[in-house]
Amino acid sequence: MARRRARKSLLPSRLAVTEDRLAPYAVSAANSRGRCHPEAAPEARTEFQRDRDRIVHSTAFRRLEYKTQVFVNHEGDLFRTRLTHSLEVAQIARGIARVLQLNEDLTEAIALAHDLGHTPFGHAGQDALNDCMAGQHGGFEHNLQSLRIVDVLEENYAAFDGLNLCFETRAGILKHCSKARARELGAVAQRFLDDQRPSLEAQICNLADAIAYNNHDIDDGLRSGLIQLEQLDDIAAFAQHAATVRAKYPSVTGRRFIHETIRRMINAQVVDLIETTRANLVQYAPQTLADVQQAPALVAFSATMRHELQDLQRFLRDQLYRHYKVVRMTTKAARIINDLFAAFMGTPGLLPLQYQQMANENQARAVADYIAGMTDRYAMREHRRLFAVGEI
Ligand code: MG
Repeated sequence: MARRRARKSLLPSRLAVTEDRLAPYAVSAANSRGRCHPEAAPEARTEFQRDRDRIVHSTAFRRLEYKTQVFVNHEGDLFRTRLTHSLEVAQIARGIARVLQLNEDLTEAIALAHDLGHTPFGHAGQDALNDCMAGQHGGFEHNLQSLRIVDVLEENYAAFDGLNLCFETRAGILKHCSKARARELGAVAQRFLDDQRPSLEAQICNLADAIAYNNHDIDDGLRSGLIQLEQLDDIAAFAQHAATVRAKYPSVTGRRFIHETIRRMINAQVVDLIETTRANLVQYAPQTLADVQQAPALVAFSATMRHELQDLQRFLRDQLYRHYKVVRMTTKAARIINDLFAAFMGTPGLLPLQYQQMANENQARAVADYIAGMTDRYAMREHRRLFAVGEI
């Protein structure tokens, strides 16, 4: 019997994974400024894959499932939540990064982390918490909170607080920042003092965020019945694709018609962004990451698309975000946040033990961290526990 020859493994002998095909101005492990706490290089993934994986395994990431995007989580199972929104942003951003030969893993990590710091109840929650934290307490801003979560608040690793992410992931999460706050934050916020642009990977995430919410808010708005298809006839970003779908598939209506239109809108916006960015890259011809940081924002939409999206955003603001049914929800949400903040500031003994310890150092910040970490339903439950007479 012939002895079977051992087949040669197709896998490389070492587990090192390299970042192939990156443009010279992309972020790479080679030009990374590393982690605050030095760690051995990862064995079977890139540094930025490791960051992405740490974000997916974080507690804050799981909480996104029960946090509002526009509609409070219990209003319907099919509306976007912060989690599904973040997944859509990551999907859009990765596709753009890949075709532009930028760092897809870093892009994905930033996209998945970009909303970690959101309070319960969306922007209404953040505005209420910011009002509570105004003045001497230092305010509250969700994107600073995202950075605080990955730098300080996550408690998953033995050797350090937070997730110890790479500098570039942290800098990408910090989308905006005042100069005063930038001085406190140090290197990760230095670009705000130097008036420099973020990496192209971070720039992609910012616009992928807008592509995702502009489109899914139309979808959710229609699904909720708060906006109607006819209202979108004057909105070019929607109407031109709706006309194509009607011409091509005259018998298609309802959900299928809406989705067929919206998927064409997303595609048009992504393609416009890629083409405009490519033209900018040719014009400014960056050779290095430093060149990208000195140049104007290179990831951009064309002027035509920008105007169409401004129209669309104005429509969503007036017809959806300010719809009286949404305002009722956001007003109630603000009341819940205000009540919780006042209760915990008045009686710190109401806080869970871990936050009581943090409150010894800075009570208002500990209360804000606790409230910001709540999901919508947890905040409502906590409010009932503290205020509903008969429920002790
Ligand atoms: Mg977002």
